[in-house]
Amino acid sequence: MTAQLKRMDAIEVLLCDADGNLFPSEEPAFDASAKVTNQLMQTLGSERRFRAQELRLATAGQNFRTTATDLAAAEGHTLTDDQLERWVLEEKRQVSAHLGRVLRPDPEVVRPLARLKPEHALATVSSSASSRVDVCLEATGLAGLFPPDRRYSAEDSLPVPTSKPDPAVYLHAAQSLQVGRYRALAIEDSVPGAQSAVAAGLPTLGNVMFVALSERPARTAALTRVGVAGVISSWRELEELLATRRAGGLACASAHQRCEHSRHASDVAQLPAAASQSPSTLGHPFGGAVARRGHPAGDRLGAARAEDPVGNQPRAP
Ligand SMILES: [Mg+2]
Repeated sequence: MTAQLKRMDAIEVLLCDADGNLFPSEEPAFDASAKVTNQLMQTLGSERRFRAQELRLATAGQNFRTTATDLAAAEGHTLTDDQLERWVLEEKRQVSAHLGRVLRPDPEVVRPLARLKPEHALATVSSSASSRVDVCLEATGLAGLFPPDRRYSAEDSLPVPTSKPDPAVYLHAAQSLQVGRYRALAIEDSVPGAQSAVAAGLPTLGNVMFVALSERPARTAALTRVGVAGVISSWRELEELLATRRAGGLACASAHQRCEHSRHASDVAQLPAAASQSPSTLGHPFGGAVARRGHPAGDRLGAARAEDPVGNQPRAP
């Protein structure tokens, strides 16, 4: 963990999970997904039915392909490839349509990320299908911040769909962007998602911004157990943390002090292990003097490659 944090001053790329991280899609997605899931259960001859909340808690961070396969297996069935594809497409269609109707832009996401974009390449790394992520980014006003060629899907960016917690999609994203693991930072809200990023060897932060307050303590503890370097509760906190490389740690100390007096103090207190020690200690791992290169994110990726010739080979899980 300490090693991860000491290298955060070199972060060039933000690998952002999408659902539940960039927008509060988990609950509305499961409202629509539960209907399809129950249609599947009926087709399998099962009397088991799922409410949206039950399905969300049981399968968050996994894609529907994995869920459908597991549920069928639990009922003693094996879906054929054609059957599985039909169910995956139907769930994708219904969920995407629903999310496009209900999601809205959130200034607390759009504005911090827009401010981060000039200095960081932004990418999405999701278990969901690209078409669903595209719909959500459009509905939430984020599409312009995440170029289409930096949207990575465990469902359709890989030779074989491979859902988180497998690290495949993060390894693919890091390799595609040719970014060393200490120059990329993953931000995840779910435990399987964090497991995926950590297994790919990436420094990872948990983000509970869209997690219900009642679920935050347990989520924060679970994220910490699987190896995240810290847990934030807003995108502004990430902006402040990354700003310390330009402000010698002052912004990080400021963020910590601010959050000590906020309702999220317990979450933020888990940021660097040093957070509970002193602002100067806190500032060190993030606040090392780093020269600003002053060129766009795309150039920064090139610079990262030049400086880190072995950096395009993330550690295997
Ligand atoms: Mg998520």
